[in-house]
Amino acid sequence: MEGEAESGRRAVRQVRLAGGERLGADLVVMAVGIRPNTDLAQRAGLRCERGILVDDTLQTFDPAIYAVGECVQHRNSTFGLVAPLWEQARVCAIHLAEVGVSRYVERVRPVRLRVSGIQLYSAGEIADGPGREVLVLHDARRGLYRRVVLEQGRMVGVVLHGDAEDASWYLNWIVSREPVGAMRDKLLFGAGAAPAVANAR
Ligand SMILES: Cc1cc2nc3c(=O)[nH]c(=O)nc-3n(C[C@H](O)[C@H](O)[C@H](O)COP(=O)(O)OP(=O)(O)OC[C@H]3O[C@@H](n4cnc5c(N)ncnc54)[C@H](O)[C@@H]3O)c2cc1C
Repeated sequence: MEGEAESGRRAVRQVRLAGGERLGADLVVMAVGIRPNTDLAQRAGLRCERGILVDDTLQTFDPAIYAVGECVQHRNSTFGLVAPLWEQARVCAIHLAEVGVSRYVERVRPVRLRVSGIQLYSAGEIADGPGREVLVLHDARRGLYRRVVLEQGRMVGVVLHGDAEDASWYLNWIVSREPVGAMRDKLLFGAGAAPAVANAR
């Protein structure tokens, strides 16, 4: 959100956007994202951009120094969940112990949230952008929202809200990078739509 929340006497009433537009609101949720702390690395003379730059072995620009975790930037990505950090630690440890060769490869990391019965799942690239096609299914009465992002005829991201039972089916499409082909028009209906289309392919 760009802009500012305005207080009423006891609670927020509206949000004023940077362009001057005012939106009524009784709750403001702010997301600040991940900001790697690079202070120590910068003071040590390591090359940093958004995070401490590391190569596929988690080595920084100083060959004597390795870095893993939320503080690093690997191939333009930064990290905010534990799972990729464990993988970074594993690769880094292999190099430090000189027990083999391993490369850190970023994989699609799905995020699943279940809060008070709410099912929410996301994986891959979920933002709109040049060259991307976004398919959306929104059934407000059933509390269902599905968003599928395609790029060059392949699925690159998904958001599921309300019903995330088919999450692994969607993830397979993303990870396999298989062209969606004739499935495009049925993707929003989930795995149940697959057999009919499999026959059509
Ligand atoms: C509220 C919250 C909930 C989260 N929930 C989840 C979740 O459900 N699932 C999930 O996968 N991830 C979750 N995360 C993210 C996860 O906690 C982080 O991705 C993970 O802890 C990062 O590990 P790290 O070792 O890179 O950094 P950190 O855990 O931040 O560790 C860095 C350490 O370095 C120390 N340090 C910093 N500067 C210096 C210095 N100059 N000298 C010495 N020590 C220093 C810090 O004190 C700290 O102990 C959550 C994070 C938050 C904040």
